[in-house]
Amino acid sequence: MEYNVIEKFLSIDGEGPTAGELAAFIRFGGCSLACTWCDTAYSIPMGIKGELLTKEEIYGFIKGTGASNVTITGGEPLIQYGIEELLYFLAKDQDLLIHIETNGSIPVYEFESLVPLDNISFIIDYKLPGSGMEDRMDLKNYELIGKKDVCKFVISSLEDLERAKKVVDTYNLTDKCLVYFSPVSSMIKPVFIVEFMKQHRLNKIRLQIQLHKIVWSPETRGV
Ligand code: SF4
Repeated sequence: MEYNVIEKFLSIDGEGPTAGELAAFIRFGGCSLACTWCDTAYSIPMGIKGELLTKEEIYGFIKGTGASNVTITGGEPLIQYGIEELLYFLAKDQDLLIHIETNGSIPVYEFESLVPLDNISFIIDYKLPGSGMEDRMDLKNYELIGKKDVCKFVISSLEDLERAKKVVDTYNLTDKCLVYFSPVSSMIKPVFIVEFMKQHRLNKIRLQIQLHKIVWSPETRGV
C-alpha cells in the first residue's frame, strides 16, 4: 500500500504537548472540512497529488531525521486509506512518540488498535463557530477523549471563547485530557484570551501560541 504524502520535513513542533521540540512531520492531503481560517488551505483538496510512499519508506524518512517525535497531520490524516495500518506500524517503534492532529469530525474512538497505544496521542480539534464547521464535530470524541490526548480550540472571537468554555464544562475536559486555547493570529490577540481566562478563572487550560509562526513568517511552508 502507498500513502499520498504532500509534505515531509524535520522541524520543531509548533503546538501540542511537545511544542518547541524537534519533530518529523508527515502531512497528508485531503480534508473532510473547510474551515474559514484554515492556514494550510493547500492541503484541503481531496485528490491533491503528493509523493506516494510505503509505510516502510515513511518510517525510513522519520528515522533518518533523527527525531523521536512524529507529527502526523493534514489535511485530515484519519481519512487516508490504510492510515490505521501505517500508524500501528510506526508505533511498534517504542522510541517514537507519535501525535496525530485530527479535526474533530472523525470518530477517533473507532481506531481501536491505536487508542490503547502508549506512544500515540490524538490532538483533537473542536471547531468553534468562527470556523464555520462546528456542526460537523463528532461529539462522542469529547466524551471518550483519553488522558494522554489533547483537545484544542482554535479561537477567533469572543463568541468562540464563550463556546469553548461551554464545551470544556459540558464534557468536563480539564479532568480528562490536556486542553489548549490557540488564537487565530490574524483575528484575535492572545492577551484577549488571557483576560478571558483570568476573568473566568479557567484553570488547567493552556494558552498556546503557534511557535512556527513566530520562528518563521506565517506564510512559510514546510517548516
Ligand atoms: S480541518 Fe484543518 S486542514 Fe481541514 S480545513 Fe480545517 S484547518 Fe484546514
